[in-house]
Amino acid sequence: SKPAPVKKPATVSKPKQKINLDLELKKKNEKPNLSFVVIGHVDSGKSTMTGRLLYDLNIVDSKTLHKLTKESESIGKASFSLAWIMDQTSEERNRGITVDICQTQFETKQSSFTIIDSPGHKDYVPQMINGVTQADLAIAIIDASSFESGFIADGQTKEHLTIAKSLGIEKCILLINKMDVVGWSKDRYDEIKGQLTEFLTDELKYVKDDLIFLPASGYLGDNIVKKSKNLPWYSGSSLIELLESENKSVNHKIDKKSPFVMTINDVMESSKNDELTVSGRINSGLIQPGESISISPSQQTALIHSITITKSNVGSSLVKNEAQKLAIEGEFVELKLKKLDNWENIKVGDLCSLANNPIKPCNKFSCELQCFELTRLLLIGTPFVMFRNNISIPARLSSIELVNGKKNKKKHLRSNTVSTVTIEILERDMPLLTFGENKKLGRVVIRKDGFTVAAGKILDLLHE
Ligand code: GDP
Repeated sequence: SKPAPVKKPATVSKPKQKINLDLELKKKNEKPNLSFVVIGHVDSGKSTMTGRLLYDLNIVDSKTLHKLTKESESIGKASFSLAWIMDQTSEERNRGITVDICQTQFETKQSSFTIIDSPGHKDYVPQMINGVTQADLAIAIIDASSFESGFIADGQTKEHLTIAKSLGIEKCILLINKMDVVGWSKDRYDEIKGQLTEFLTDELKYVKDDLIFLPASGYLGDNIVKKSKNLPWYSGSSLIELLESENKSVNHKIDKKSPFVMTINDVMESSKNDELTVSGRINSGLIQPGESISISPSQQTALIHSITITKSNVGSSLVKNEAQKLAIEGEFVELKLKKLDNWENIKVGDLCSLANNPIKPCNKFSCELQCFELTRLLLIGTPFVMFRNNISIPARLSSIELVNGKKNKKKHLRSNTVSTVTIEILERDMPLLTFGENKKLGRVVIRKDGFTVAAGKILDLLHE
């Protein structure tokens, strides 16, 4: 269906409360939040590592772990008890319709973190893409005992790392896991590190200094929170030390002039007719209760009644909703909205902006597209699935302007090319931002027949 034409907002309203912006920002920066996504091949140990991290930080108590151990023993899977810490919370948290990634908040003395848990299985790449778009940093878990199976052939390690880089994750911790299984071997670690570094710097163009390697055992806890005695040849930091130091460097340097944009991750209806709560991570800018926003593509205006940040303790059902005077880029928030004309049209993936700065949806854009290794040529007109943030939508190439910098006459793209193309979104118009406007939202990933085939930067929106 066609979206409504751009409407003049009914109300453009001011914040409810006058605040001292610099002071509020300073407060937020006392304990900045770093969000990280855990990626990697299935069974590489993602859940186990995360469970170990939370357990060794005393965020999950031994009673909870004991209970989980008993449960997992009773079905003959004792080794899964740490992994269940995350799985159990994800179930508890599953309140909305669309929560297919799990967010877990935890705090240490100095820092606050959000873990984005994404499924490692091949069928879950779309959710993994969603997870990556919410993260500042990726931790890739690599199984030292079976590195090759996740890396060569159709393993998920390469695909996950490719997607992470294509969606703007510049920094990556590569945790070489299950070092206990390979006898804590430095040779094995060096071999894997070498192969990964080559792939990441040569093919994915990562900057070497942005790659942090770390040998560990999530299961036994070596180098997660406690330094390992089994790895005397490694003099670097443990995972939590690395995360703490990354957290310090996040230090929300908010560009006060950058426009407010938030992608909707979840929509929660209320018993009251004129209220609706949407949640998401703020992509840029800042917002206060009392301000009015526009939601694209439906172009409705709503008033922000209140803003809350949900803090829950992992492993318990204690949830705190902290009301905010101000919310800023990078924060995961819930916005309680008032006075929307039409509820039904608000969906996951919609973009919120300030009411006086609505985002006009469109269905065509020019794009700098990088093709990866293709098994078949990418043809003009053939549909593929395009991912942008947490939306996936059918789309196709409608023209190819340049290939590797040269004028193009062909009707297809080959492997390992960089081209300028026009992409047409099928089915509906989407709210889009260019790469120039937003370095994360201005990116797309293209998958075809279950493989990631290309990634692009949105150059220009072509409104008809
Ligand atoms: P995920 O699919 O990546 O989340 O992997 P899981 O965390 O579920 O782990 C898969 C299996 O590997 C489980 O049996 C874990 O106990 C085991 N595992 C995970 N980390 C380690 C480790 O560091 N050492 C050993 N020996 N086994 C591990």
